[in-house]
Amino acid sequence: MNVKVRPQLLTMKAYAPGKSSEEVQREYGLDKIVKLASNENPYGTSPHVSKVISSMENFAIYPDGAATVLRKKVAKYTGVKEDQLIFSSGLDELIQIISKALLDENSNTVMATGTFPQYRHNAVVQNAEIREVPLQDGRHDLQAMAKEVDDDTKVVWICNPNNPTGTYVNDKELGQFLQSVPSHVLVVLDEAYYEYVTAQDYPETIPLLDQYDNLMVLRTFSKAFGLAAFRIGYGIGAASFIQQLEVVRLPFNTSMLAQKAAIAALEDLDFVDRSVSSNAHELQKFYEICTRHNINFYPSQGNFIFISIPGKESAEVFQYLLERGYTVRPFPNGIRITVGTKEENSELFDIIEKMVLVKH
Ligand SMILES: *Cc1c(COP(=O)(O)O)cnc(C)c1O
Repeated sequence: MNVKVRPQLLTMKAYAPGKSSEEVQREYGLDKIVKLASNENPYGTSPHVSKVISSMENFAIYPDGAATVLRKKVAKYTGVKEDQLIFSSGLDELIQIISKALLDENSNTVMATGTFPQYRHNAVVQNAEIREVPLQDGRHDLQAMAKEVDDDTKVVWICNPNNPTGTYVNDKELGQFLQSVPSHVLVVLDEAYYEYVTAQDYPETIPLLDQYDNLMVLRTFSKAFGLAAFRIGYGIGAASFIQQLEVVRLPFNTSMLAQKAAIAALEDLDFVDRSVSSNAHELQKFYEICTRHNINFYPSQGNFIFISIPGKESAEVFQYLLERGYTVRPFPNGIRITVGTKEENSELFDIIEKMVLVKH
């Protein structure tokens, strides 16, 4: 092959989806698989969304590239102006749009290690210098991150709550950080799990947008709204900056189905409320089980929990759960489990208890 891609791509791998549930099921002879690996909503999607989608017709026309109706809805839902919003094919695409617009080989970007991998992935594609700051006790070390910022820094990524640890940056810490960062640096707050948060001192970031025009907030319909299959998310920022990002966005990046699904989802916020309160309730049970069996965990503001079992490798824990029909996400220092339904969790707790009680 004589065609040469840009050299930094040779150091990278394409996203590798895990084995499909069907494959796992066949391989281990299981009658069902519970997928707790990608933080999807275990309660599914609002029935109102299915109704709206199944009554749709005329798929021959392009979608509304400006997402006019959805824009009005989201502006109302978030309390921002319509021109402060940009829509994307999931936040994955918005992270790519921001990276394309800001990062090149002469710039650097600051992020945590032990956070959402797409920030790093896109920075490598753009050939930007990556400055990574390890999490401290599962949390962003904002003071150390601020020290990495210099004249060539274009973007700082803060995942709040953080995936995979579920920890959060509080309002005071964020306020201090924003004051210490120069105004030429875009601070991205990835709030993919915003709806799930219960902490009282979690920062309300939308009012901060009036104070800091170098702030951008990312939200998605993939998690609490249960629309991961549709691929739709949005960013909120200063109108003038959003206008510049719009240049990078593909004209029809969000499908008509995705827009309609998101509109319908916003018409059934009770579904989100129920998902969120069940999640908070179920998380408490995870804390109890972990405490009872001396399993390390981080209290979580998301719909997932990061745990590590003393004396057990995460690969071993992952495999044990997989063979019993539960797929979770392994990391070098622990596993991330999506909080499932009551039934899914209670069966999972039995499996975990058996595993930890086994004598060596
Ligand atoms: C799931 C997730 C995303 C991506 O979500 P989309 O489905 O692409 O909208 C972005 N950031 C974090 C932290 C996530 O966990």
